[in-house]
Amino acid sequence: MSKAFARGACPRLAAPMETGDGLLARIVPSGPMPLKALACLCTTARTHGNGTIEISARGNLQIRGLTPGSAPLFADRVAALGIDISDGVPVLADPLPGDPSALIDMNALAIELRQVLAASRLVLAPKVSVIADGGGRLHLDALAADIRVRAVTTTNGPRLHVALAGDAAAATPLGTVAPDEACDAVSCLLAVIAAHGPEARGADVLRSCGLTAFRDAIRTRIEFGPPPPPRLPVDMVGTHSLKGDLYALGMGLAFGHTQAHTLHALTEIARVHGALWARPAPDRTLLLGPFQRTKVKTIRDEARRLGFAVEAADPRRRIVACPGAPSCGSGLIASRRLAAEIAEEVEFAGAGIALHVSGCAKGCAHPFPAPLTVIGTAQGAGLVRNATARATPSCYVNEADVAAAVDEFSVREPADA
Ligand code: SF4
Repeated sequence: MSKAFARGACPRLAAPMETGDGLLARIVPSGPMPLKALACLCTTARTHGNGTIEISARGNLQIRGLTPGSAPLFADRVAALGIDISDGVPVLADPLPGDPSALIDMNALAIELRQVLAASRLVLAPKVSVIADGGGRLHLDALAADIRVRAVTTTNGPRLHVALAGDAAAATPLGTVAPDEACDAVSCLLAVIAAHGPEARGADVLRSCGLTAFRDAIRTRIEFGPPPPPRLPVDMVGTHSLKGDLYALGMGLAFGHTQAHTLHALTEIARVHGALWARPAPDRTLLLGPFQRTKVKTIRDEARRLGFAVEAADPRRRIVACPGAPSCGSGLIASRRLAAEIAEEVEFAGAGIALHVSGCAKGCAHPFPAPLTVIGTAQGAGLVRNATARATPSCYVNEADVAAAVDEFSVREPADA
């Protein structure tokens, strides 16, 4: 029997989370998955769940619609697929396997770090995480973490810049460590967080105690200095070169979800055209590869036909939507159906997330402010600008009128500069 899921924890394979459409199991892959294993996972998701598969903003796989009876069978089946699944402190490393632009192979470092942390028996809050960024093109600057390390070039060769609590723009910089000391340094920093209790996060410790304890914990290993320069935002969607004139293709799942049979079809097409692996990646995307140059267009066309977003400019990439009704029991509007209608009808200016459609005020899919948020409420769909889903809407419309209202809101009231 699967364990009961505690709110605030993470819905891992062995402890799925109750949602409106049954239990949701999250799989945190620690590296690329063999295509055959992903195809089997799709089949298993259809057998034991309701067939909906999601990739989250942090690049985790989520299987929906399991039952108390089917969840343990699903977990057993997945355990037999040979997928490398991370079950401890989440350590997010570069998503592109063998990224030729990376300064350091952070996936190797991430494996070592996971082993060290598993042996350390540190008790940490479930959402404490580490980002290990090798300095390549598909960087992880947009994701927040309690500890982040980023490979940088220095006059003494590559080193790892360490920062605390936040995404790359907001994190508090500490300094650099040698690559072979990175595991120890991160463990020591996590021990500082753990010392503040099992619910503590890096940001809490920074707020209450400042930098001193963190600095002291790695004083013998760190070289203090300025943080590395910020990097331009990156899009996982597109064609990414690998070594040896081979390519990976990144594609977005529309509003973060697809159906198991659709994903299965994509894996089969990719396999026939020579791909070996799939890697769920941040920003609700999937990377597939390696492909020869001559195969790239075919795969892209097939993925488009199956409903995946294969261009960074796809309007669906500008909208974040949670499952909403009827998938989620708390949903007061059909978020993803509305998001699809809006993507068809509304053109958004600028770049980045333009709209968040949230089934209720909880705002699971995007706990941050968005230029425009549509919120499911008892009075209908509420609209609010430059706020999170928890804000009080400034107007309400019927579901049938949401697309027109979003269009009007976007045109008449452009987002603040
Ligand atoms: S925001 Fe509300 S409706 Fe959407 S997934 Fe979360 S709880 Fe469900």
